[in-house]
Amino acid sequence: MLDRFNRKINYLRISVTDRCNLRCHYCMPADNPCMLRHQDILRFEEIQQVVAVAAALGVDKIRLTGGEPLVRRDIVELVSMISAVPGLSDLAMTTNGILLPDFALPLARAGLRRVNISLDTTDAVKFREITRGGDIQKVFKGIEAAREAGLLPVKVNCVVGPGPHGEDARGVADYCMRNGLQLRFIQQMDLQAGHFGIVEGGSGGDCKHCNRLRLTSDGKMKPCLFSDLSYDIRQLGIHRAMEMALDTKPEKGTVNRLNCFHNIGG
Ligand code: SF4
Repeated sequence: MLDRFNRKINYLRISVTDRCNLRCHYCMPADNPCMLRHQDILRFEEIQQVVAVAAALGVDKIRLTGGEPLVRRDIVELVSMISAVPGLSDLAMTTNGILLPDFALPLARAGLRRVNISLDTTDAVKFREITRGGDIQKVFKGIEAAREAGLLPVKVNCVVGPGPHGEDARGVADYCMRNGLQLRFIQQMDLQAGHFGIVEGGSGGDCKHCNRLRLTSDGKMKPCLFSDLSYDIRQLGIHRAMEMALDTKPEKGTVNRLNCFHNIGG
């Protein structure tokens, strides 16, 4: 499907939860993050229906995000339900990797194709600071498990600040080079201020060639990450919500005053 700027929209990013087992300081406040009510979170059947409608409209690429998607109970079952939808050429996930050592193989068997794993430093102490308590060894084991399970290519998402890449980013680049991993540098974003950049080594943030829509974990179809626009699939119906998102997709992102990163999945 084409939007009104003739961009081919074939990619749907689905946030399956706003919960996370880390508290990265640029994504989530340390305490009392604004969390969605359990009953507002989409059920698996609803997510599968959205994917089926999207696939029928021309979407062939799905990415599961969060919060942290692996904290959603029975996530392997959801992957299996989505991978059964005809017409998909790609099913990927963005994860912080902490739970991946246990999930990589079951996810691959359920139909997941590949993963992007967040890693902003290779220094264990700094990692614990950035994530407010995370254990970097679990991420390294998660990367290994993803590779062994055939979730390839394994890509690393490294969030960087403005200006030239610092010591942490260079350390991650080194680590990726030594381990044959693909690397994406993602400029730290600010939804409310409208600060974002094009992902180095990826396609995010390139408005001119944007190919994506987003579904929040409580069922809001969003035409753009940096926009307040959203369409409730439970009120409008899936097809109408997708149509409206496509028809109102902005030429480029501006600001998003209504969402937090952990409930929209970046
Ligand atoms: S800011 Fe919006 S239009 Fe630009 S790349 Fe992101 S989602 Fe696409």
